[in-house]
Amino acid sequence: MEFDTIAAISTPMGEGAIAIVRLSGEQAVQIADAVFKGVGNKRLVDQTSHTIHYGHIIDTKTEQVVEEVMVSLMKGPKTFTREDVVEINCHGGLVSVNRVLQLVLNHGARLAEPGEFTKRAFLNGRIDLSQAEAVMDLIRAKTDRAMNVAIGQMEGRLSKLIQGLRQEILETLAHVEVNIDYPEYDDVEEMTHQILVEKAAHVKTEIEKLIRTSQQGKILREGLSTVIVGRPNVGKSSLLNSLVHENKAIVTDIPGTTRDVIEEYVNVRGVPLRLVDTAGIRETEDIVERIGVERSRKVLKEADLILLVLNYSDELTQEDENLFKAVEGMDVIVIINKTDLPQQIDMDRVEELAKEHKVVTTSLLQEQGVDELEEAISSLFFEGEIEASDMTYVSNSRHIALLNQALQAIEEAIHGVEMGTPIDIVQIDLTRTWELLGEITGDSVHESLIDQLFSQFCLGK
Ligand code: GDP
Ligand code: ZN
Repeated sequence: MEFDTIAAISTPMGEGAIAIVRLSGEQAVQIADAVFKGVGNKRLVDQTSHTIHYGHIIDTKTEQVVEEVMVSLMKGPKTFTREDVVEINCHGGLVSVNRVLQLVLNHGARLAEPGEFTKRAFLNGRIDLSQAEAVMDLIRAKTDRAMNVAIGQMEGRLSKLIQGLRQEILETLAHVEVNIDYPEYDDVEEMTHQILVEKAAHVKTEIEKLIRTSQQGKILREGLSTVIVGRPNVGKSSLLNSLVHENKAIVTDIPGTTRDVIEEYVNVRGVPLRLVDTAGIRETEDIVERIGVERSRKVLKEADLILLVLNYSDELTQEDENLFKAVEGMDVIVIINKTDLPQQIDMDRVEELAKEHKVVTTSLLQEQGVDELEEAISSLFFEGEIEASDMTYVSNSRHIALLNQALQAIEEAIHGVEMGTPIDIVQIDLTRTWELLGEITGDSVHESLIDQLFSQFCLGK
């Protein structure tokens, strides 16, 4: 496929000082060559692939040196997009990087849309759809662990799993085919039935497993929406501050989300917490007062995690008891703060109210108990499995939707077999499952099914 040449500033994560202007497309080398002046008048168009060149970017109108650069030259198809790719490494600040970008745009490149390099990699067959989507997730990943999930997916972990399942369905379909071709053999029918039941059940289990990971996947991607509640003065702001300070707040560079903060991200042992309405806690001390009873109820209901703070050195009040009622049935961690002061709280009553919720005692003033709290948060969501990062999480909503549809289709197939439905009807449900799973990886459907069936299995004869 042929596309126009695109360009964008694509600075890799974790490297602040160097910025890269990246070009991809037919004209990438020519455009870069037009603005580049190498040592000894070396021309980029004369250079071999996968080489790096030192020189300057020149404003051709004014003949001015814009930037001192290293240019990487990579000719397709051994590149990320499979097209010719040129990367201009700039050492100066944002202003000169932007001028370099502007120059290549003036010389015929088009500004890339968000994710367009990745899209090209997909369109040119370099990566499959789930890998392309993983790249997008990677860009937005908020913690190391979320990033590991995205990287795992990008490396094709999900694709491999899906492909395995599709292969199983394909084999099953081959047996169905034999059955349809040789209906006169009783033992063939018997065998088909047995294989169908076994294989379909296994595929179903695996799809269900993948769906189950999706909740955690979503959390890893979007952060665990967390609300701190408690009476005035129990230590909510102190808790927020210690969470933010101990776990460096995660900076999001999605435009518009940086200031007027009502949410703050922190990384607690790999669990990204999205602390909701932190401004409310900071400014008015009272989430209800700030956003009104109705909305705060909604905020509470939508939270993934509630941190309910009580005062160790004060008696329980009706307000405390009401809070327990308001968060019933949710994931709650009860924090009893100010343990450095004399006890006034009735711990038996707290245990009663807390029921199955984890209770942690802290003295935020003396920085005690925060470790235990973090442990409680992390084990609540990873069930103590710190190594969760090598699991395959499904975190993409398109994938989740397709998996749910595939689950339905395979259930119908199983139901059909159990009800003694004609085998060619069951075949339709199986094929549908195969196709839906294929949509996750973006593999094409229909005619390839027939081709694969006959290329992989010796039927007839
Ligand atoms: P909020 O109203 O719930 O946000 O409570 P704050 O975090 O603003 O704390 C209220 C007061 O209690 C402040 O003066 C804090 O310094 C103090 N405080 C917070 N945690 C502790 C603690 O563990 N021990 C003691 N003695 N004081 C604390
Ligand atoms: Zn406060």
